[in-house]
Amino acid sequence: MKKLIFVTGGVCSSLGKGVTASSIGALMEARGLIVRMVKIDPYLNVDAGTMSPYQHGEVYVTDDGAETDLDLGNYGRFTHSPLSKANSITTGQVYQAVINKEREGRYLGRTVQVIPHITDEIKARILAPGKDPDVDVTIVEVGGTVGDMESIPFLEAARQLIHEFGRQNAVTVHVTLIPAVSGGELKTKPSQHAVKELQEVGIQPDALVLRAAQPVEEGMRRKLSGFTNVEFEGIISAHDVRPTIYEIPLLFQDQGLDTFLLKKMGVESRHADLRAWKEVVRKLKEPKATVRIGVVGKYMDLEDSYKSVWEALYHGGIANEAAVKIVKIDSSRLEAAAGEPAPDYDAVLGEVDGILVPGGYGQRGTNGMVAAARWARERKVPYFGICLGLQIMVIETSRNLLGWADADSSEFNPDSGHPVVSLLEEQVDVKSYGGTQRLGKSESVLKESSLIRSIYGSERILERHRHRYEVSNAYRAELEKAGLKIAALTPDGSLVECMEWAGHPWGLGVQFHPEFKSGPLNPGPLFRSFIGACLAGRGQAEK
Ligand code: GLN
Repeated sequence: MKKLIFVTGGVCSSLGKGVTASSIGALMEARGLIVRMVKIDPYLNVDAGTMSPYQHGEVYVTDDGAETDLDLGNYGRFTHSPLSKANSITTGQVYQAVINKEREGRYLGRTVQVIPHITDEIKARILAPGKDPDVDVTIVEVGGTVGDMESIPFLEAARQLIHEFGRQNAVTVHVTLIPAVSGGELKTKPSQHAVKELQEVGIQPDALVLRAAQPVEEGMRRKLSGFTNVEFEGIISAHDVRPTIYEIPLLFQDQGLDTFLLKKMGVESRHADLRAWKEVVRKLKEPKATVRIGVVGKYMDLEDSYKSVWEALYHGGIANEAAVKIVKIDSSRLEAAAGEPAPDYDAVLGEVDGILVPGGYGQRGTNGMVAAARWARERKVPYFGICLGLQIMVIETSRNLLGWADADSSEFNPDSGHPVVSLLEEQVDVKSYGGTQRLGKSESVLKESSLIRSIYGSERILERHRHRYEVSNAYRAELEKAGLKIAALTPDGSLVECMEWAGHPWGLGVQFHPEFKSGPLNPGPLFRSFIGACLAGRGQAEK
């Protein structure tokens, strides 16, 4: 019998349900089980693709081009669950599917209702990724907070599935908060209420994961057990761990969460093998060096806007046994205000060992990114451009080496005389914004004797894309002559995938997003190499 683990959240949002679900996934895999991960987002957007980072944090992209919640990125970093459109369920998708079926007449004249039609659609979607015969357990993270109006149909679907599967096959882990009041005393009351709220919708949690700043002591866990009908062994302290979230599977394992859940579900499994995770944590806790990376972009005040980029940089650190300190630099700080002198770039950038310009949209701040790219090129400081960061390299070379002062992306200036970055041909007639960019996995062919080829060690690679604009083919020859070399193309040669600065120790931009495939156990090759180059050139910036 296949198993289901639901992960729900109480008290408030942002408690780390995603990392909890992912860590449980990692523990199940360490026990030899085959895991699938599913995220439910109770909003009406069909996917996260049209949402601003200010609303939602990063948009994570899967191989098949789904634009999803950033928790899928956590699933990808912690587990081997394949991730695709099927692993991300939103209210928008569910209603769209049900309404389409209604229009097609597939409900045979019946009144279409939330129960059973919406809940049946949700149940089918929850079970779909686990259908493969070899899958042992599907972990379903129910986004939002129990008690939110939006979550009700999803929790009802979960309740029905628990009933149908039996509680020996479907367990629930409820993540709640243990706040500290002034004076530092920890309080269980919000968690007691959060459990009651879950019980009100007919779900008895089997385990509680208690988020707290400090360890939640045994007495307090016993008290909660008494109030909530959750066995004491199932009450887990998820106190803050530093410096890394990759310690959380170990924290849960120390408290026996995996053993407890497996016992509940009657699963026999082998002994947990967590050597790889222990090694990751060791490298992060005992780094041999420190490297400072300046990330120059918009949305720098938001923790989650480039979640996969931050994590991939840390993975590059793991690969080099180095601590990575990320210095977030708002690119508008590198732009001169009207009538003002140019900013002191050395003062802003001089303290970092390498610069990364991540993906982004819209004109704001792009001139500051161009200034950062120029500074890195001239100072021979490692520069890594991702998607927009590649386009910025092209604009920088065009303006400063080819002398085309008006060179720009047609995204930022539709009237530029030198549109060196322009709309992809397939995008010209696109009218709607949802899910219409160049999205998902596709192949790049790496040129012999390029830096990128030596980094990946193979001629062909598969990475994920998310963009509408592209290096204009009309300017390829001039850009190459100016020293910005084409290092990778699509197999048909029609699109530029990577460019590199000639005669620079490490200056490279890619049109794809390598951060989405990087993990602590398998650091992305470009991040490994970039951090290595930054370490090798440390102090260069000051010279
Ligand atoms: N805005 C650029 C484009 O659409 C870059 C996108 C990105 O960085 N993801 O092509």
